[in-house]
Amino acid sequence: MSRVLGIIGGGQLGMMLTEAAQNMKDDISKIIVLDPTKNCPASIVGAEQIIADFKDENAIKKLSELSDIITYEIESGNSDVLKKLEKNTEINPSPDTLKIIQDKLVQKQFLQENNIPIAEFAEINSKEEIEHMIDELGLPLLLKTRRDAYDGRGNYKINSKSEIDDALDLFSGKLLMVEKFVKFEKEISVIAARNTKGEIATYPVVENIHENNILKMTIAPGRVSENVKKQAEQIAEKTMEVLHGAGVFGIEMFVTRDDEVLINEIAPRVHNSGHHTLQSSNTSQFEQHLRAILGMNLGDSTIKHPTIMYNILGPRTFQGEYELLYKKSENIYLKTYRKLESKPQRKIGHVNIVDKENLGMNELLSQVEDLKKNLLIEPKKT
Ligand code: AMP
Repeated sequence: MSRVLGIIGGGQLGMMLTEAAQNMKDDISKIIVLDPTKNCPASIVGAEQIIADFKDENAIKKLSELSDIITYEIESGNSDVLKKLEKNTEINPSPDTLKIIQDKLVQKQFLQENNIPIAEFAEINSKEEIEHMIDELGLPLLLKTRRDAYDGRGNYKINSKSEIDDALDLFSGKLLMVEKFVKFEKEISVIAARNTKGEIATYPVVENIHENNILKMTIAPGRVSENVKKQAEQIAEKTMEVLHGAGVFGIEMFVTRDDEVLINEIAPRVHNSGHHTLQSSNTSQFEQHLRAILGMNLGDSTIKHPTIMYNILGPRTFQGEYELLYKKSENIYLKTYRKLESKPQRKIGHVNIVDKENLGMNELLSQVEDLKKNLLIEPKKT
């Protein structure tokens, strides 16, 4: 049975989901995305598009009328509207799962109730509560907005009590929480999938390197001890068991200096740290997500070739149409996100550097350095 797939969000994740869906013609006949930006990346590669805000109730209803199954590439969707529509259209991951994950406080409470390791946290409703939590958890303390934050934009690291007013001003009107600051050794993640039949598959643990809170590079597989690997896999599998949602989830974790693994947060969607799977694995995270939500058997999630994924961000020096120049090589795979304009720090593509000849991670890392020197994003010449 071939079905119409609706995706809320048509950015680069929606684009790569669309491309994976186009290779599954027996199961998916058409792809429709809901996205506010005209000519969004997913529409450029062939998805039909409803142009509207992600939370627009009428647009979500229209998408559900036109689709047999709905999924999403962003976690800020309207879970209450989706919940109402669930009776008529299959939605995966389920609106209940989305509701838990999209509020960081509710997510942390859920993980705590299920004995999954996380940093200590508390809900915040006043300045006095922050002062109290500083006494409890020490400094620095991380103040976080509970909803709609990504790439660290909703985080304020409070270094002293004198900074509390500034932090509260910045997030005025937002729901807040605090978290103990984790002095982590490494950030890692596991891309995990659960299909509608409850089968679970996880990709190997990867290592993530951030710059200014934005993912810069993923090393797959991650350079971590067997002990850390085991903890991360167990945490990912347990999370999948308790969450009940179907689909691919990106589970971000910290490794502490004592080799303890804690969850930072869960994304109920395909994840930037899973882009290496486009070349490193037999099944990309995008195909895996579709297999999971369509109730198919999950694909092979082993890593065939170690890979480094390097994110391409728009330079700070200009905004506008651009040209991308880089040195081509047989093991370097460039994926551009078809965005018409570059903006400072905007993700405009990624490169997978694939170790097909078992040269080792150090060689891949030196190829990344070489690539950085030879990758140029310049204003388009008219
Ligand atoms: P988030 O948007 O909450 O995932 O946070 C973005 C980045 O902030 C993470 O990738 C970490 O580098 C950092 N971060 C988040 N929470 C904590 C924490 N509790 N302790 C230390 N660093 C954190």
